[in-house]
Amino acid sequence: MAGGGSAIRGSRVGAGPMGEAERGESAPRQTVTYFCSHEHRSVVTFAVEATPPASWDCPKCGLPASLDSDTPPPAPKIEPYKTHLAYVKERRSDAEAADILAEAIQLLRSRRKSGDIVF
Ligand SMILES: [Zn+2]
Repeated sequence: MAGGGSAIRGSRVGAGPMGEAERGESAPRQTVTYFCSHEHRSVVTFAVEATPPASWDCPKCGLPASLDSDTPPPAPKIEPYKTHLAYVKERRSDAEAADILAEAIQLLRSRRKSGDIVF
């Protein structure tokens, strides 16, 4: 039995990197609740030494969330996903597109007639 005791002591010496125990369950933590304008509550856990930021991106909707439940930060103006060009293309009907094309061809032809070669 005495030999078993020394074996345990021997294994403790080389066990794990230093500080491993401190980073486990015993590490002091603080939980901070953030509120977004969609009334989501996000509980974020920080180490007790850390200073929680005043705002946090809501993990549910991505909007900024603040510590103050009464006045969550306003939702930022989100840029439309479509580019302006895509929007114009969508709005323009096929007929309009044909008109524009015909106009362009006429313009080219009239320029050719006048001797102004653009190609
Ligand atoms: Zn949210």
